[in-house]
Amino acid sequence: MTARIIDGKAIAAGVRARVAEQVRAFREQTGRVPGLATVLVGDDPASAVYVGGKQRACAEVGMNPFDVRLPGDSSFERVSEELAKLRADEQVSGILLQLPVPDHLDGPTLTNMVPPEKDVDGLTPVSTGLLSLGLPGLRSCTPQGVIELLAQTGVELEGAEAVVVGRSNLFGKPMAQLLLERNATVTICHSRTRELREACARADVLIAAVGRPRMIAEGFVKPGAVVIDVGTNRLTPEQAGNKSGLVGDVDFAAAAQVASAITPVPGGVGPMTIAFLLSNTLQAARRQAGIEQ
Ligand code: NAP
Repeated sequence: MTARIIDGKAIAAGVRARVAEQVRAFREQTGRVPGLATVLVGDDPASAVYVGGKQRACAEVGMNPFDVRLPGDSSFERVSEELAKLRADEQVSGILLQLPVPDHLDGPTLTNMVPPEKDVDGLTPVSTGLLSLGLPGLRSCTPQGVIELLAQTGVELEGAEAVVVGRSNLFGKPMAQLLLERNATVTICHSRTRELREACARADVLIAAVGRPRMIAEGFVKPGAVVIDVGTNRLTPEQAGNKSGLVGDVDFAAAAQVASAITPVPGGVGPMTIAFLLSNTLQAARRQAGIEQ
């Protein structure tokens, strides 16, 4: 079998177009413009690229971007002051503190200063708690993106065996919760899992978020399974065998022989994250404006 390639770029473009349309309707209805504030502490080049991409995407769908940059040696008090300002600012619907922050700062405590109604990353304890209780709230962006990819691919999650490799707060745990909400039977694997290969080979839907290049290899994928590769590993172009030097956690060539559908890296899950950041910002603005959803 040769798998169908799930085109994350195209699906993300569809989500962004839908958000742009809804932003227009929101502006007409309320006279307000949703705003997304990104806070970057320090000048890590990769983080600066991510933040730049988020700012541009935000402007493209008609939202106001607020680009807050602080020096790498900023004190905890300085960063919290900035977060407090954004918290009080009615123009700002969503706040994203770009992680990781420099070592001398306490990332989790700073993240917790983002109020739940503006937590467009869905990472604060309140947002995580709402998710685990199945209550309305802002959900983590990448797992939402994966659910959209599966929906657009026509994957039936109800009753399906779903295996998530990786249990991070950022991705693995919220992913498992969203799958459970959709009535999949969910297994979470991690570095202490015995017989990882066997666990993966039971999956109808296999989702890898580990950060180890091509570790999901031959024998891990059940024939006909849908494979979602969240991993983003940067190799030299010679090692990677593609121009971008980015490879996933799945051995794409091997998995594509047996899977029914698979995401590529790049161009699979990656573009979905920003699309759902925009969607979350609009959702936050709508809630703040008192519009029911
Ligand atoms: P993380 O916090 O480092 O978590 C990695 C997880 O993988 C951990 O749960 C770890 O287990 C598990 N793991 C490590 N080695 C393993 C092994 N040999 N067998 C089984 N499990 C193993 O990483 P993350 O933030 O979740 O990200 C994972 C990958 O996804 C990274 O490549 C990241 O860049 C990518 N990512 C991409 C996007 C996107 O937008 N495309 C978004 C988020 C993440 P333990 O818990 O036992 O240590």
